[in-house]
Amino acid sequence: MGKPTGFLEFTRELPGKKPVEERLKNYNEFIERYSDEKLNQQSARCMNCGVPFCHSGCPLGNVIPEFNDAVYRKSWQEAYEILASTNNFPEFTGRICPAPCESACVLGINQPAITIEEIEKHIIEIAFDKGFVKPRKPNVRTGKKVAVVGSGPAGLAAAAQLNYAGHTVTVFERDDKPGGLLRYGIPDFKLEKWVIDRRIKLMEEEGVTFRCHANVGENVRINDLLREYHAIVLAGGSTVPRDLKIPGRELKGVYYAMQFLKQQNKRNAGLDPLAHANIESNIFSENLLATSKNVVVIGGGDTGSDCVGTSNRHKAKSVTQFELLPKPPDGRNEFMPWPTFPMILKTSTSHEEGANRHWAIATKEFVGDKKGNLKALKVVDLEWKVTEDGKPSQFVEKPGSEREIPCELALLAMGFVHPQHEGLLNELGVDLDSRGNVRATEKEYKTSINKIFVAGDMRRGQSLVVWAISEGRECARKVDEFLNEGVSFLESKDQNIVLAI
Ligand SMILES: Cc1cc2nc3c(=O)[nH]c(=O)nc-3n(C[C@H](O)[C@H](O)[C@H](O)COP(=O)(O)OP(=O)(O)OC[C@H]3O[C@@H](n4cnc5c(N)ncnc54)[C@H](O)[C@@H]3O)c2cc1C
Ligand code: SF4
Repeated sequence: MGKPTGFLEFTRELPGKKPVEERLKNYNEFIERYSDEKLNQQSARCMNCGVPFCHSGCPLGNVIPEFNDAVYRKSWQEAYEILASTNNFPEFTGRICPAPCESACVLGINQPAITIEEIEKHIIEIAFDKGFVKPRKPNVRTGKKVAVVGSGPAGLAAAAQLNYAGHTVTVFERDDKPGGLLRYGIPDFKLEKWVIDRRIKLMEEEGVTFRCHANVGENVRINDLLREYHAIVLAGGSTVPRDLKIPGRELKGVYYAMQFLKQQNKRNAGLDPLAHANIESNIFSENLLATSKNVVVIGGGDTGSDCVGTSNRHKAKSVTQFELLPKPPDGRNEFMPWPTFPMILKTSTSHEEGANRHWAIATKEFVGDKKGNLKALKVVDLEWKVTEDGKPSQFVEKPGSEREIPCELALLAMGFVHPQHEGLLNELGVDLDSRGNVRATEKEYKTSINKIFVAGDMRRGQSLVVWAISEGRECARKVDEFLNEGVSFLESKDQNIVLAI
């Protein structure tokens, strides 16, 4: 434990952010780094609890008190090695993880939690600055070949781990660059893309091969992969967006959030935002810009918040966000006690930049003009019934609340229903679960087809980057066991948690 009295002396402080007017001028990250003194103070707040609940709050089982202690002692290489032992990509989670570990932090019972996510980001960035992050090449190659389909965080984590185990790994990605939603979903202002390039370069130096523009089931035949590789990991994500099938859906001006967000990420990368336009690639054949429009984002989650931030950067006339559910409470209540992940009001940095937020509201119709362009939304307020354990269960429309609000661009950000079935999955005939995801248990990651495994959103449904990394790592261990007749020396999350306690 760094400083026994640290949690009494210092309170939680996040690093500074660039002012809103400055950050709206571009798509750059805007969260600054801690000074050395502040980083030291924030790590000093960790109490090194007897039972550190933060470990189990983190889907990766990150060994948090140990790296906090190393940061406090300025033992940077040690801090990096502790962090890298459980997390392949702390530079991603340190920027965009919703930090369920912080909800489980014991200090959070009566004080603000440790700034675990920020400390994680500082450890990895300091490690890169100081040259500690070097390619980790395996000493021996096993002669076994593994194909990973999809290069999001799940596919990347599986590939990195299987490569460390000595297998020869090729990652197939249908897009033009690796990264999955890290690259072409999450906006640059949350995660600049050089961060992904830096990691991909390292993985290439470690021996992983990336094949982009390789759409398995289309221009790469799955039967060829089955013949050439000893195992296959499916990590294609959950890409089919939830639709809102109400009158006027066909109007010009109603789009999926991902069509809008992906175009902007392509523009930021200096690429043609309209190249390879088709539904599968989430690229729409016209430029989607919010400039001078009344924008309504339908869906109150992270994807919606990213649309808010992007619309403000486009200089929209107004930006409004709708959520069907009622407004959550500001803090924990009796239904979400510590250390559960609380469903409380979240105000993202994009919300800080300006948005009219509405809860308990439903969109009944997209209203168009004579030319087929969207001009308004017909909406209605809702009254929710709540169950005994505080969960919203049923709603009725509030009489007399129906009205039209002006809107020329509506973005559907209501989540994703399941992975794409056409192409790869249908051709394989792999078993799906009741939600349409690829069926495999969390313990085994094995699909219904021999030597084919699955990880990430394609298995668990739409989730988080930290879960995708965790799934990729755990799945890699199962693939390694499969290739080595039941033996694997790759770490598992359960071992990490037991060792840490
Ligand atoms: C807009 C948005 C913002 C988000 N923000 C956050 C956030 O801030 N924090 C957070 O933790 N999570 C966030 N998420 C969720 C997070 O991005 C996902 O949970 C995570 O990326 C899932 O990882 P994955 O590897 O399973 O799949 P993905 O990241 O979806 O990657 C799948 C990859 O597989 C490729 N692929 C699919 N089929 C094929 C095929 N047949 N052949 C070749 N390649 C194929 C796809 O092109 C894609 O690159 C966000 C999601 C969205 C949409
Ligand atoms: S990966 Fe996420 S949950 Fe895990 S320690 Fe980092 S911020 Fe916390």
